Amino acid sequence: MPWNRPLIIGIILLLLTLGWLRTNSGETEQVRRSQLMMGTIVEIVATGQDPDQLEAAIDEAFAEMARLDRLLSRHYQDSDVSRLSQSRKGGKVAPETAEVIALGLDVARHSKGAFDMTLGRLKALWDISQENPVIPKQEAIAEAMEGIGPRALSLEGLNLFKQSPQLMVDLGGIAKGYIVDRAIIVLKKHGINNGAVNAGGDMYLLGQHPEHPWRIGIQHPREQDGILATVQVRDKAVVTSGDYERFFEQDGHRYHHIFDPETGSSARGCQSATVITKSVALGDALATALFVLGPQKGLELLAEYPGSEGLIVAADGTLHPSTGWASYADSP
Ligand code: ADP
Ligand code: MG
Repeated sequence: MPWNRPLIIGIILLLLTLGWLRTNSGETEQVRRSQLMMGTIVEIVATGQDPDQLEAAIDEAFAEMARLDRLLSRHYQDSDVSRLSQSRKGGKVAPETAEVIALGLDVARHSKGAFDMTLGRLKALWDISQENPVIPKQEAIAEAMEGIGPRALSLEGLNLFKQSPQLMVDLGGIAKGYIVDRAIIVLKKHGINNGAVNAGGDMYLLGQHPEHPWRIGIQHPREQDGILATVQVRDKAVVTSGDYERFFEQDGHRYHHIFDPETGSSARGCQSATVITKSVALGDALATALFVLGPQKGLELLAEYPGSEGLIVAADGTLHPSTGWASYADSP
């Protein structure tokens, strides 16, 4: 039987289509990379079909995080935060800095000053992360807190105003979260819909894991490597603030890096506070605020942010979930 042309063309087209389907419905690739950044290990996971695309996206996400860290960290002399702290009255900042500070001021207002970006001098005084930290003298604490508070900073467009020349800005309770959000934006721009960015407990879970929804274990505040709860999330930020990462103990009290602006000492109401919400920046600020406010006032604050849920571990170890928390709980 002579070969007929349309049949041959048909077979070739079929083979080409099958080949195309095979390369495009092939194994989902997952690329996982980590870097030391912002004083913690930052991990980025991205899944998709094309490993080169995933690598390129992760490279750019890390580069964007490094760029923002240079803007928002007090560890760089020429960062916006350092320039503001050195200035007498404030000054013009980058749009990204203004965006973080605007969100921080909103949480500062809603939390009635429990979240406070003007604690820079107090943080420097306590210097919790040094090798042998000590409790500062009461007069030194009072001095470091002069002129602080949510009204001591204000923003008009890109111009930031300080009420007092010695005020030191500290974005330690919110910047890391904002930077994680920006990394997620970079991944999405590269067409990645499934992945995760985790900066030491400040994380965003995009889409889902290749085989199942993202399941996140929340660190138990008193059991090393223990899991307090497991949650299942999609396109959400999960952020925990705790007193167990950096602390020292003296006279039966635990001194750590989250300060109560009312006392100038470490906040006493909680062991940890976890927030699930739409952005890591908001989650970061809220988790810090909840930790300072303690279970009751903390959950009241959370109720002012619709779509945000939380789980607070009080100082006595009791658990205080928000009303909608159960919708994320993975285990009974
Ligand atoms: P972590 O940085 O360990 O994730 P947090 O998000 O709770 O934890 O941030 C703690 C940091 O926030 C501190 O190191 C300090 O820079 C800053 N900070 C401490 N107390 C407050 C507060 N009451 N309001 C806002 N920021 C705070
Ligand atoms: Mg925080």
